[in-house]
Amino acid sequence: MHEDIEKTLVSEVEIAEKVAELGFNISRDYEGKDVVLVNVLKGGVIFLADLVRAIDIPITIDFMAITSYGAASQTSGVVRVLKDLDEDIEGRHVLVVEDIIDTGLTLGYLLKNLRVRGPASLSVCTLLDKSARRLLEDLPIKYKGFDVPDQFVVGYGLDYRQKYRNLPYIGVLKPEIYQKATS
Ligand code: 5GP
Repeated sequence: MHEDIEKTLVSEVEIAEKVAELGFNISRDYEGKDVVLVNVLKGGVIFLADLVRAIDIPITIDFMAITSYGAASQTSGVVRVLKDLDEDIEGRHVLVVEDIIDTGLTLGYLLKNLRVRGPASLSVCTLLDKSARRLLEDLPIKYKGFDVPDQFVVGYGLDYRQKYRNLPYIGVLKPEIYQKATS
């Protein structure tokens, strides 16, 4: 698995330090509020699992599963909800926890879907921000881990064809891995 990685973009130690910092800030900002962390399966699940343990105020977590139409490494922004939230979010403070924001189209759709349910507030915490490819501005990104360049990254929850999610760091795949897959 590690031999397929060209280079490490964010190390395990850097991730741990950032998660602790984000957890601290979230705990401070949401103290005394009824907050639910909404996670989008499956890419964000590793990040969420670490993040919640860095938060020391009462919170709940809930999950959504969505799928994009089109090729695996491209988004159209048109998504289908495969699994909806279990809980009602009306009047609650919702923090969407994302693995990566690329064009922002998927997140934009998701936020629209959540906003009509009447949350008290709706914000986003993303581990990675690939802002060079952003098509949608004005996303309520309140917390951000790292900026990443316009490259396809894997690890720490992020996959390529469902693999590499269990890498403990974030890296860029060697080009021959894609080429093998497309040839
Ligand atoms: P967006 O709608 O922002 O373009 O796409 C967001 C989704 O595309 C992410 O939640 C993720 O599933 C996928 N994605 C975007 N960039 C990458 C990347 O570099 N690596 C991986 N593994 N997935 C990505």
